[in-house]
Amino acid sequence: MPSDPLDILKRVFGFQSFRPLQEEIVARILDGQDAFVLMPTGGGKSLCFQLPALLRQGVGIVVSPLISLMKDQVDALRASGVRAAYYNSSLGQKAARQVLAELHAGQLDLLYIAPERLMSPGFLERLRDMDVALIAIDEAHCISQWGHDFRPEYTQLGVLRRSFPGVPLVALTATADVQTRQDILSRLELDDDDCFVTSFDRPNIRYTVLEKHQPARQLMKFLAGHGSEAGIVYALSRKRVEEVAKKLCDAGLSAAAYHAGLGDGERQRVQDEFLRDELQIVVATVAFGMGIDKSNVRFVVHYDLPKNIEGYYQETGRAGRDGLAAEALLLFGYGDIALCRGLIEKGHNEEQNRIELHKLNAMASFAEALTCRRQVLLGYFGEHATEDCGNCDICLQPPETYDATEDARKALSC
Ligand code: ADP
Ligand code: MG
Repeated sequence: MPSDPLDILKRVFGFQSFRPLQEEIVARILDGQDAFVLMPTGGGKSLCFQLPALLRQGVGIVVSPLISLMKDQVDALRASGVRAAYYNSSLGQKAARQVLAELHAGQLDLLYIAPERLMSPGFLERLRDMDVALIAIDEAHCISQWGHDFRPEYTQLGVLRRSFPGVPLVALTATADVQTRQDILSRLELDDDDCFVTSFDRPNIRYTVLEKHQPARQLMKFLAGHGSEAGIVYALSRKRVEEVAKKLCDAGLSAAAYHAGLGDGERQRVQDEFLRDELQIVVATVAFGMGIDKSNVRFVVHYDLPKNIEGYYQETGRAGRDGLAAEALLLFGYGDIALCRGLIEKGHNEEQNRIELHKLNAMASFAEALTCRRQVLLGYFGEHATEDCGNCDICLQPPETYDATEDARKALSC
């Protein structure tokens, strides 16, 4: 049966139309060329490789860093009738053998695989004897030391472009400042022609930074303006998360703590209740949120300074996925800069520490800026907005600016 991308989009994925750039990216891959896709979270990156994998001969290989994300995507694909499987350390021997058997029998449209499995001895050789529709590297920022989530097991992926000359290579990420982007391109041997970048602007999110003096009280005041709306409060440490969650509960709010120190069961319970709107507020470390698809999060508060703008953007980006008005509040205290610096300097890799300190400085500059927040944020990702956004604290309440240069000039001229 002949089919074209739009047809597959409707029949298999159940969508009526493409999101921005999806169609162009799919066309490029179908044409046998590479692509680098920089698109915010929720922009629809998965479809960019899933759809062409169905239309091209052979299996689409998808490298993904997180076992839970692989499972979610594979489950969703299977529910739509796509022959998808994953191959990672969560599989028992029998299940792993089964997946490999399906792969060799040409029974898979898509295989999600952990990077260390793909690069393990012999695996690439197996693939070389088969039809490979494309190779997608999801969360491609993990390949770069400049990325905020560097994973050593990603670095070896640099050989893929040369190992599979005729196969389209697709790298996708939602977080890349200018340096990270360049680094991904050079490591994967992609070039500027391969790049597809959509806007990172989230116009419905209102950004506000408050100087932090009595954070608990400031948080309560903010929450009082949000009734029973759903939201996330991020804090830097597990201890702080516990403290804040307790304060909110004591004040009669529906809140719970979430961090990596809690048992799997407890974390699952908090996440499920939040998704089902049974829990209003999750107080969490950055461990919370990856892959959580909840559209009606109305606010995200940073109780402490995030370590970098990538993290801040991702975390605030969990608000307002439904496109309705949402708020991002950052409580900014100078003490937090020292605190973050201390955490960073505990690391043992000096090169990495230097990069992280650089990123921390950029984060602090964002918080201190007296110009439109959105412009600073987008500028960090290499996107240049020309107009003030009208939906951040600086635009809404311009700070009283004291023109020191003007004074200096006057002083000098008399
Ligand atoms: P990303 O990986 O960029 O964060 P996903 O691929 O997970 O985003 O897609 C985010 C959401 O958007 C998913 O729920 C997906 O089903 C939906 N989506 C993707 N493409 C379309 C489309 N063309 N029309 C409608 N919904 C879409
Ligand atoms: Mg994704």
